[in-house]
Amino acid sequence: MNMNNKYPLIWKKDNFSIKIFCSIPNIATGILLKAGVSHFIIDPGDGILRDLNKEIGTTNLLAIEDIFVSHGHHDHVGGVWSLLTYLRVMNKKSPLAIYFPKDCVEIKSIHSAFMKVYSKTISYKISLKELHSAKPFSRKTVSIKPFPVIHREYLRDGVKTRQVPALGYTFTFNGKKICYGGDTAYCKDLVINAKNSDLAILEAGHNDDTPDEMHMTLAEAKSIGKTAKECFLVHVPE
Ligand SMILES: [Zn+2]
Ligand SMILES: [Zn+2]
Repeated sequence: MNMNNKYPLIWKKDNFSIKIFCSIPNIATGILLKAGVSHFIIDPGDGILRDLNKEIGTTNLLAIEDIFVSHGHHDHVGGVWSLLTYLRVMNKKSPLAIYFPKDCVEIKSIHSAFMKVYSKTISYKISLKELHSAKPFSRKTVSIKPFPVIHREYLRDGVKTRQVPALGYTFTFNGKKICYGGDTAYCKDLVINAKNSDLAILEAGHNDDTPDEMHMTLAEAKSIGKTAKECFLVHVPE
């Protein structure tokens, strides 16, 4: 179980790899998945454009066609605007799909603001893929399965909370499965999907030992991590 907080975290098996540039609660998350020759972005938080440009260069960046978003909190979507704008400036031609949980207002709002500014001058097509169910689908050579997780946020009074539309995903390629839980409390769907995965990426974002419905405690994350072949514990408060 890898729980040092030194980013990036890298996992690689054959032609399947994942690089977590960072995962710091309230600051940023940014993840690059590579299967064969195809790249996929997971949770484009602030800094993702800088990290991707350094890692794979402009040509590969322009070829990316899929972004997977776990939920709309700023530390997971803060880089979307700069990414979309950069792709336009660099004259991207291939289409781009953004997958996100149903009713995730942040992605819809960023997209609609972007289209308001650039719809007449954009060089590529963006499709919003609002995921309504846990139905698996595939992109290029990867099978993707979204699954619901439990994640809440505070309302203005700082006491009451509400459930945030939030998903985890499994990505399977060449018989290897990576489970990314996103931000989540301990929940049944995560337990099921992380079990026996080749790599589980689990958040341990709760900063005390009393379980709640926002993030997992270290003990909760570890208990799920044990059931996977390998595990990264991420999103640990600094
Ligand atoms: Zn977060
Ligand atoms: Zn969150």
